[in-house]
Amino acid sequence: MANTYSEVWDLDVFFEGGSNSAEFAAHMTAAAEEIAGFKKEVEKWQPSEHQDESARLTSLVEMFDGAARKVRQAGAFVSCLQAQNTQDKKANQLRATVTELSASLQNALTAFDQKLAGFSPEVWEELVKSGLLNELSFVLTERRERAAEKLSGEEESAINALSVDGYHGWGQLYDLLVSNTKIKYKDGDLSVGQAANKLSDTDRSVRKGIFTEWENAWGEKEDFFSKNLNHLAGFRLNVYKLRGWDDVLKEPLDINRMQKETLNAMWEVISDHKVPFVQFLNRKAKLLGLEKLSWYDLDAPIGSTESKLSYQEGADFIVDNFAQFGKEMADFAKMAFENNWIEAEDRPGKAPGGFHTFFPESSQSRIFMTYSGTPSNVSTLAHELGHGFHTYAMRDLHLLNRNYAMNVAETASTFAEMIVSDASLKNSTSKEEKISLLEDKIQRSVALLMNIHARFLFETRFYEERKQGVVNAERLNELMKDAQTEAYGGALEEYHPLFWASKLHFYITGVPFYNFPYTFGYLFSLGIYAMAQEEGRGYEEKYIALLKDSASMPVEELAQKHLNVDLTKKDFWEKAVRMCVEDVEEFLALTE
Ligand SMILES: [Zn+2]
Repeated sequence: MANTYSEVWDLDVFFEGGSNSAEFAAHMTAAAEEIAGFKKEVEKWQPSEHQDESARLTSLVEMFDGAARKVRQAGAFVSCLQAQNTQDKKANQLRATVTELSASLQNALTAFDQKLAGFSPEVWEELVKSGLLNELSFVLTERRERAAEKLSGEEESAINALSVDGYHGWGQLYDLLVSNTKIKYKDGDLSVGQAANKLSDTDRSVRKGIFTEWENAWGEKEDFFSKNLNHLAGFRLNVYKLRGWDDVLKEPLDINRMQKETLNAMWEVISDHKVPFVQFLNRKAKLLGLEKLSWYDLDAPIGSTESKLSYQEGADFIVDNFAQFGKEMADFAKMAFENNWIEAEDRPGKAPGGFHTFFPESSQSRIFMTYSGTPSNVSTLAHELGHGFHTYAMRDLHLLNRNYAMNVAETASTFAEMIVSDASLKNSTSKEEKISLLEDKIQRSVALLMNIHARFLFETRFYEERKQGVVNAERLNELMKDAQTEAYGGALEEYHPLFWASKLHFYITGVPFYNFPYTFGYLFSLGIYAMAQEEGRGYEEKYIALLKDSASMPVEELAQKHLNVDLTKKDFWEKAVRMCVEDVEEFLALTE
């Protein structure tokens, strides 16, 4: 084959020299200057109700845009440095500096938002009637409304400043603890990421052995992790209390621009449909020759089809299948592979997991993961490329109109995953292959309707208990086991009580409740996918239109406008879950 894609990404194109880059140091200085400039202008601004402030406001928005691009560019670069080599100490120092920059930009922005909140509704409406301000009116009005619900500018600034060494400091400590966590395996130690890949090994004794060491490794440090988690949550809860917010879901729902009715309708429908997935897990157990599955069997491949794809094969497979849906998406993926936007090499010292990040000043994406050739690796790769395509679809919009929320972000990524998995299902020739591909697809439903559900149940309950005081490791284990038992419909023999320690999502300080948006995105994209299948190739244009709108309206409105559905009602979710159940029914029939 003529193509040979590099498995190592190119970061030098942004700043040459990695964490010692002089170019990057200069960038950081420039970012600090731009933030200071924006801050000064905001402080000087005394908005008047009696004169036209639109020119002034437009110029402030542009200043913010410039500073924010610089900070995000820096943040993306440091994320990449840290992920590619967890031993890069300089990168960790840079992270701290970027966090300080973000905090000071956040501070200036808080002051800016307070000024927006000062306008009377009538004057405000006039102000955002035309020009750039009109283009940004949803986002700016949202900022104004959020500011009105918060504390005074000074108080919020103090909170932001304290977050650097408090809240965010705890988040960083978690990353450090994880990078120092090794999982024993045969004669050597594995990084957390390498060990996680072994949980899908064909040999049960390998999985079981790894899982035992896995639980041991987290268990040894459980007191550190529980202290970490408790302080993170405590910080968050205290801030909410000061603002007079008593619902811990208020902030995540606001961030995701969705209503609680929507969230409730979604989980209710999921809880109503556990049975088929429990049947699937029971059938899987049977196929593996087991009474019941354990946590470490969930990702076990069934059958002997050890279908590994080389990186090149995986890449070609993704591009070919994206092309079945639309040209833009295929071209985008090809460009990402050709231009070394992806870090996929399987080597020690890398961070676990996968992510997509965007460099706004260069209009380029980077994707991080560890590729070892499994079908789930191919899915992850497609998933992250889906994120990339989302940012790419929005490339001509103003930066402020590109801040889509998590729930919508996961729409594009799961949509991309679905294209790939469905296409391979269609191409499959043998019954055995079909079963294994269907299983891969259902596994995703299990992950989003069971695993993520467990995370949500755990997190809401943990936060309730945390309001009363510190929750110790023993209790955290208990809460997690209960949540998993409920979410998996009691289908497993052994659960993963220390999941609260091993799953980094509970420690992400940028976003609270990093769980339900995944499930939302999955089911939401199933709805879009169903329409795409009905309409064929011409749908890509509509899909891109939806993506473009995805950061400038609430999700209920987005769904109404582009899909003509009401997300607060159960019908939409019933239909989406139904699609997942159909896969299970087909699987059960094929494996009878
Ligand atoms: Zn994602």
